[in-house]
Amino acid sequence: MELERPLPHPITPEARPYWDGAREGKLMIPRCTACGKAFLYPRVRCPFCASRDIEWIRASGRGRLHAFEIAHQILNRAFKVKTPVVLAMVELEEGPRLLTNLVNVEPDPARLRCDMPVEVVFEKQTEEITLPMFQPAGGAR
Ligand SMILES: [Zn+2]
Repeated sequence: MELERPLPHPITPEARPYWDGAREGKLMIPRCTACGKAFLYPRVRCPFCASRDIEWIRASGRGRLHAFEIAHQILNRAFKVKTPVVLAMVELEEGPRLLTNLVNVEPDPARLRCDMPVEVVFEKQTEEITLPMFQPAGGAR
């Protein structure tokens, strides 16, 4: 099977819970137990207070569309994703933002607006990697 996009490989130890969670349909994010802030991407030190005391929590999967772009052409040849595709920066309820795709929605600027509520959906790519994507809250539009 030809992959639609490059996937993380190998998975680094600090990101392992994120990918293990995604495979099970859970959006797992790291949170600092010293200052209480959640963050992405996963790393060994809290980006806010530099503590190494990190725990993993299951995010609600709800968030808002912080910013988006409708891509009609992808110049990086490693990506075979069918265009147009909605590239999205989603801000999770817990605070962190992640770069993802908005799916199950017409890639039409009239149907998308910043701050619209979105929810996570999981798209399996390989046995190891499932990617968290987002759709409009309440399902496909
Ligand atoms: Zn911290």
